[in-house]
Amino acid sequence: MITVLEDMRDSVRDEGIHRAGEILKKGGLVAFPTETVYGLGADALDAGASAKIYQAKGRPSDNPLIVHIADWEAIEKITKERPWQARRLSEAFWPGPLTMILKKSDAVPYATTGGLDTVAVRMPDNPIALALIRAGGGYIAAPSANTSGRPSPTTAQHVAEDLDGEIDMIIDGGPVSIGLESTIVDLTEETPTILRPGFISQEMLQEVIGSVEMDRGLIAADSSVRPKAPGMKYRHYAPRAPLFIVEGERQKVQEKINTLTSAEHEKGRTPGVIATDETSGSYTHALVESIGSRADERSIAQHLYAILREFDRLEVSVIYSESFETPQMGPAIMNRLMKAAGHQVIHV
Ligand code: AMP
Ligand code: MG
Repeated sequence: MITVLEDMRDSVRDEGIHRAGEILKKGGLVAFPTETVYGLGADALDAGASAKIYQAKGRPSDNPLIVHIADWEAIEKITKERPWQARRLSEAFWPGPLTMILKKSDAVPYATTGGLDTVAVRMPDNPIALALIRAGGGYIAAPSANTSGRPSPTTAQHVAEDLDGEIDMIIDGGPVSIGLESTIVDLTEETPTILRPGFISQEMLQEVIGSVEMDRGLIAADSSVRPKAPGMKYRHYAPRAPLFIVEGERQKVQEKINTLTSAEHEKGRTPGVIATDETSGSYTHALVESIGSRADERSIAQHLYAILREFDRLEVSVIYSESFETPQMGPAIMNRLMKAAGHQVIHV
């Protein structure tokens, strides 16, 4: 059952959050909105509660959870040490879409960190999320609230599609504002390293703390180098139909996609195309969805997962997507799209 708290009167909202907080304190599961994607929350300091998250999502047990906090001071209890970069980055980007990896304290059970001695910490920028974290005891483990492997949820309805009946409560706070998971930066290495690209880019981090590297496991598309964030090694975000990214000069991409869709159409099947506002009129013989405008990269990030789910609903036979190398979020958008495509790229 979805509890709607978007645009609610204060008293209704407070009552809903109080109820959700009680569920979390008793070891239950509550899905809630953040600015990145919807999260599936449980008490991060309760091993039994964390274990329920893995069960509900069907998540591999070596894939650690991000602990969400609502106040900077909360970080002391769950980490062993806080390098200077942690404070600076929190001042610059928290609350916001940045997760930091730090050495964990004994307060955090291994059930939450997938057996690692490090812990991922984030302060989300969403009033419902912040109130819920406080109401639930201050430390809420929350991976994306989807069934493992499926596209992450950007609305409460997406959460219900995957998890209704499996969890205690779903809070509806409306569609999320960013639509891609947080940037993860590992501060336990000599040089801070990005383990997962997100809204906060490498350049934005470098402006605050100097040198920041990109995990080599992210750049090596052939997966010969293992990514350092355990979750990045799994096929993820995948729609049901095979997805191909078509890369190259814009005109050639359109021609290639039209050749592919008409061949598919001749076989009596219905392909899907992920286009942009600028190009959606140029495709034939396919169900065409515009992901947003090339002039507004936020719109592209916001709609990516919803489009992948929409093509599941439309039961297309195959999906062809344009590629989106936009300035700030391009690496994050292409990282998710490449994973959804299982790295199937057609160069023209
Ligand atoms: P999700 O919350 O579903 O977006 O996934 C969380 C991501 O954070 C996964 O890719 C995890 O592997 C990664 N992560 C969480 N904790 C750690 C950690 N201690 N070290 C490295 N990566 C982590
Ligand atoms: Mg996830």
